Amino acid sequence: MSRLEIKDLHVSVETKEGRKQIVKGANLTVESGQTHAIMGPNGSGKSTLAYTLAGHPKYIVDSGQALLDGEDLLKMTVDERAKTGLFLAMQYPVEVSGVSMTNFLRTAKTEIDGEAPAIRTWTKDLNAAMKRLKMDPKFAQRSVNEGFSGGEKKRAEVLQLEILKPKFAILDETDSGLDVDALRIVSEGVNRAKETTGLGILMVTHYTRILKYIKPDIVHVFADGRFVKTGGPDLADELEEAGYDQYLPDGADSE
Ligand code: ADP
Ligand code: MG
Ligand code: MG
Repeated sequence: MSRLEIKDLHVSVETKEGRKQIVKGANLTVESGQTHAIMGPNGSGKSTLAYTLAGHPKYIVDSGQALLDGEDLLKMTVDERAKTGLFLAMQYPVEVSGVSMTNFLRTAKTEIDGEAPAIRTWTKDLNAAMKRLKMDPKFAQRSVNEGFSGGEKKRAEVLQLEILKPKFAILDETDSGLDVDALRIVSEGVNRAKETTGLGILMVTHYTRILKYIKPDIVHVFADGRFVKTGGPDLADELEEAGYDQYLPDGADSE
């Protein structure tokens, strides 16, 4: 059993107009095997929270903590966070020219496990994982995300998840822009990781449709930099009905 804890986290970014606080006291605990859905208006700081946990250098931690099994993630390099068991599926996955998927995954796997995967099982495991995600085997030789469609990028993120076997995964709008078939395939991949490794999941989403495939245990509303409401799966349905307006500061409008 592992535990990811976010304690009174405050995060800022440097903008042209000066420093702006975006995450304003976030608290959350996720245990192995749990799925937490994070829903909330655009611009409320969900991606900022995700990037901060993953170690993006642009985000300045003003105060608070993020612990994985008691270890301080915020003091770690991006590599160390990954080794400790944290994975981020980005809202906008980056393209890496000249690095093939297979080399990228193998290097990451070697780094995280502390030893290289055996050549023979490696190819077999990668092919099997790609097949389950209905990815053409040709993708293994293509540059990471280069020229991938939106749906292919999201599959590639879930492929990483299945190969790297983290303890916790943050899925930042992994469902956005997917058609129904891709949504099902991507969700099945996430559910497999959950069943086989006891993955804990933080799933940022705008839509309840993914929650039909990946069942959340807990649903949170994140608005204006904090978690403002927590409930069971019913809360997601409520949000779909009522929208986020009640959680916005006066005068603001949700997009
Ligand atoms: P969400 O993922 O909930 O839509 P984001 O975390 O992407 O929200 O953004 C939260 C707010 O922080 C937005 O107003 C956004 O413009 C601002 N923001 C995020 N990153 C930066 C940055 N690097 N520079 C300036 N503003 C930023
Ligand atoms: Mg957004
Ligand atoms: Mg976002």
